[in-house]
Formats: sequence, structure tokens, C-alpha cells
Amino acid sequence: MRVPLVAGNWKMNKTVEGARELVNGLLPRLQAVQGIEIVLCPPFPSLLAVHTLLKGTGIGLGAQNLHWEPSGAYTGEVSAEMLKELCGYVIIGHSERRAYFGETDETVNKKTKAALANGLIPIVCVGETLAENEAGQTEAVVTRQVMEGLKGIEADQAGKIVIAYEPVWAIGTGKAATGIGANQVIGDYVRRPVASLFGDKVAEGMRILYGGSVNGTNAALFFSQPEIDGALVGGASLKVDDFSAIVQAAAK
Ligand code: PEP
Repeated sequence: MRVPLVAGNWKMNKTVEGARELVNGLLPRLQAVQGIEIVLCPPFPSLLAVHTLLKGTGIGLGAQNLHWEPSGAYTGEVSAEMLKELCGYVIIGHSERRAYFGETDETVNKKTKAALANGLIPIVCVGETLAENEAGQTEAVVTRQVMEGLKGIEADQAGKIVIAYEPVWAIGTGKAATGIGANQVIGDYVRRPVASLFGDKVAEGMRILYGGSVNGTNAALFFSQPEIDGALVGGASLKVDDFSAIVQAAAK
């Protein structure tokens, strides 16, 4: 049995004070929910404040990026070694980082290895753009991102990885994939390549999330699909009612 996971990617939103307000709004709604993992991923400046508020709640904390080196002359960067004092999770290879910050399959691979080496659970994002989708390249792109992003990782470590399938055309657009469509991509182009890299046991145990315009209304459609083990949520994770509804849907 794979324990469902719902992670909120706050992106570049919320000041420290705003982050405290959001967490204080969410906590009474999320704390009683059983049987799933919930993770909040605020921007770096709010990690400490959110860490303090989440202590003892069972709700996890994640960062949105990291650098693969442990320390050194990398101005503006944050290492896994620094994050592990506060976080249990880290998002890696989000499509916004791939599109705007030069993230590649190679850097995703280095970051994933650094996260695992420091006991952080990587949430590795994969997904095709609209142009790739329309050109019939979804299988090639998603499979390549999985194979290249996770290569060279030991099977016992690989089992800890979470993958989020996030079609770029669905992120922040309000145009979510269909449950059946996302389920097919996850089963055939994500879980199958994971099996070819690490074997069936690891593939069957790995949590694979859907992300892209998930909200309180459509979440249940995704969670009813056999290959989908939760969601990576962007915009709706900033709204108490919506995020709570998604979490409730995952717990059902
Ligand atoms: C995301 O940024 O990971 C995401 C899925 O965004 P949204 O839910 O807003 O589409």
C-alpha cells in the first residue's frame, strides 16, 4: 500500500508573516486528517517559521529547490545539508525551474542524489510542454526525464523518491489533465521506466503524484485513479478551503 501524499508548492508567494497566517489557517483543518502525508513547501525565508509552527503536528516541511554541492562559493544557493536541519522533503526539477533557471535532467539527477544522501525525500517533477504534447512527444519526454533524472541511484535509495507528473500545459492554467489521461501517463511513462531502472518492487512502492490545476473540486477525480498516489498542488495550496478539500479527498 502506497501512503498518499499531498504537497503544497507555494512557489514565490507569502512573506514570513503571510506564511504564518496561512499555516495557522490550515492547521485546524489538516491536523485531524489520518492516513496520508501532507507536506508544505514555502519559500526559503519562511522555512524556519513554518518549521516551528509544524513541530508536533505530523505535517511535513519541504523546500522548493536545492544545490547539489554541500557548501562553497555558490552565491544565492542553498544545500541539502542546510535544508535537512529544517525539512524532510525537497521539490526538484519543477517545470518553472527547468524553463526559467536552466534546470536540466543532469542537474535534476545531481540534486536528487544530494537530497537522498542527506536524508531528504526528493519530489522529482517531470512533464511535457504543450508543444511536446501536441507533437506526440509525451512518452519520449516524460520517459527521458525519469530515466535521466534518476539514473545511477541505488535501488534501496530509489524507493524513497516521490515523482510528480506535472504536464506543463496544466500548471497554473486551470486546464487540468483528465484523471484517465494522467493515470495512463503515470502508469506507462513514469512507473514503467522506474521499473526498468530499479525493478518492479521499487516501482510498485513508489509514490507518483499528479500536479497541474488540482483544486478542491477536481481532486477526487485524480485520487480515484489506481496509479495516482496524491498531488503536488500549486495555486490551490495558498487557499485554506481548497487545500483542505484536496487533503480530505486524498484521505478518503
Ligand atoms: C505546481 O506548480 O506544481 C502546480 C501544480 O501548480 P498549479 O496547481 O497552480 O497548477
